[in-house]
Amino acid sequence: MPADARVDEVRRAATTLASAHEPAAAPISFRIGDELQALVLPPGALEGVCVWCHGLLADRVDLCFNCDENSRALDGVVQPIIPISLYAKPSPLRDWLTFYKDDGEVAADPSARDAIGTVLERFFTENEAWVTRLGADGAIIVPSTFRPPPHPLAVLVRERGSLPFEVLHGLSRTSANLGHNQPNTDAFDASDDLRGKRILLLDDVYTSGARAQSAAYALRRVGAEIVALCIIGRRYNPGYSEQSSAVFSRQSAETFTWTVDVRDATRT
Ligand SMILES: [Zn+2]
Repeated sequence: MPADARVDEVRRAATTLASAHEPAAAPISFRIGDELQALVLPPGALEGVCVWCHGLLADRVDLCFNCDENSRALDGVVQPIIPISLYAKPSPLRDWLTFYKDDGEVAADPSARDAIGTVLERFFTENEAWVTRLGADGAIIVPSTFRPPPHPLAVLVRERGSLPFEVLHGLSRTSANLGHNQPNTDAFDASDDLRGKRILLLDDVYTSGARAQSAAYALRRVGAEIVALCIIGRRYNPGYSEQSSAVFSRQSAETFTWTVDVRDATRT
């Protein structure tokens, strides 16, 4: 496809994506402290939960369906995720994660940006010892499919100094197909300059993991080491099954804590 046609296609897709945004459940607001009511502690190594992605095993052992599919389509590796919070729709976190970025027509919401910046800052501040142990050379944000760089999350964290790492370049999205449950070894290109670098990979949301796992694969392919894959919001659908509803209710009732230990489920 000629480059111009590709640009047009991406623009059209971005417009479609923007108009597909569901409106916020309630007017978006944020005051320091609100995050503690909005965030839901991930389940960690709870029975019936996949330790790699914190999703449900649903009668499987060790590895959930999505992690299995991702690893088979990539290089047999699943990068364990470290989710800061679970989220369902509707919820304040879902709205913050949707509206902290502009949608091509409507500007980003300042309260949502403030919320996302605050959540990241608190998570990395509260886990300072872990951050030091990671010894990361820098952070990389998983690039968007339809949005040209820079990623709004990269802009936000640079502006606020939300991450204790430099945000690195060198990972880009190709035109190869990528979708829900459709990981792709060619979806991302990583620069050879990242060889040997210790990378903290960060994404805003995680559902099937096709995107983040394909990005992690591209980094591994050039010899980068992913020291952690951090996610702000791990999507849960409590309406999916009785077990999903039970796990989400249980986690919502837990007191929210920031400690990375319960989130680093493959090591606990
Ligand atoms: Zn999984």
